[in-house]
Amino acid sequence: MTDSAVRARDLTLRYRTGFGHRDVDAVTGVSLDIAPGETLAMVGDAGSGKSTLARAIAGYTDRSVDRGVHVAGGALEVLGVDVRSLTRRHDDELALRVGYVPQDAGSVLDPHLTAGENVAMPLFQREPKLSKTIAGGIVAEALDAMHLTLATMPRYPHELSRGQRQRVAIARALVLDPELLVADEATAGIDATVRGTILDHLAEVQRSRRFAAFVVSSEIGEVRRLSQRLAVLHRGVIVGMGPIDDVLADSAHPYVRALAELAGARA
Ligand code: ADP
Ligand code: MG
Repeated sequence: MTDSAVRARDLTLRYRTGFGHRDVDAVTGVSLDIAPGETLAMVGDAGSGKSTLARAIAGYTDRSVDRGVHVAGGALEVLGVDVRSLTRRHDDELALRVGYVPQDAGSVLDPHLTAGENVAMPLFQREPKLSKTIAGGIVAEALDAMHLTLATMPRYPHELSRGQRQRVAIARALVLDPELLVADEATAGIDATVRGTILDHLAEVQRSRRFAAFVVSSEIGEVRRLSQRLAVLHRGVIVGMGPIDDVLADSAHPYVRALAELAGARA
């Protein structure tokens, strides 16, 4: 037991790809810590293993979901729970404490439920007998935190813009007041101005509720709005970690150097 929100040591995450195929180690030898209330941002190329790590930290390993990833080496502890030990039952327990915004979260909202019902779902999973009035109040508050109006509540996902859907997905991840938020490219595919405000809303909620966060981003420019600490993943390995400017200033690794040049060019 530690008092870290997330603690990984020499972690290897592997996908079993089936008979006749080689297993894929998507993440190897990763060590990192996220303290309670702290944020760690992660950047890296497509295919570097960011979503795999996010999935494992959110507790979606192969014991809790079909064809999931599994801890093939090292250790991963989330909110004091050893992720290797998760069974479906325990996973439910962790699921109530970790808010997860998977990649393309807006597109995995239930299309047959309204935005309000989508956000309310975790509330009823936790407490099936919860009164609808109380749930409605909590949902309204969660939507408001993401600056969505009450008019959003009765709408179906297809009636919303991509940015609105994404904000509904974030509201759903936050509705149980999680101790940890895992957000995987929560603003990908949204135009730049809307993206900035969504990140600002998220930062605002975090300041008031003080949950720990693991935030995956494909853009270094986004990261600063949410975090002072950055980890860079390259082909499944962490090649830089620390305060953002320190990481970018340390040009030992060619990938980090390229990233720093890109960030400089954008600034
Ligand atoms: P990123 O989010 O950084 O783009 P991913 O974590 O999605 O990277 O993928 C990392 C690696 O793991 C890639 O090589 C990808 O092909 C592989 N991978 C991802 N999901 C699966 C899966 N379900 N089965 C097998 N391999 C996978
Ligand atoms: Mg990804």
